[in-house]
Amino acid sequence: MKYTGRCPKCENNEIKYVSGTNQSKIGIPLGITSWVAVDRYICLQCGYIEQYVDTAQSLQRLANKS
Ligand SMILES: [Zn+2]
Repeated sequence: MKYTGRCPKCENNEIKYVSGTNQSKIGIPLGITSWVAVDRYICLQCGYIEQYVDTAQSLQRLANKS
């Protein structure tokens, strides 16, 4: 959906993008006060949700987590 703009489940092309930048509850915790943002693409037909860690920098933070 991120790249095709189309739902892989129902072929609908009405996709809602929701930034995870300010949504710590759906992020991935790195510590008590630190987390990685997760962006979501939601199909407005069937409700299917695709999720991505938001940036390459965030992926690196995950990789470095001990
Ligand atoms: Zn769908």
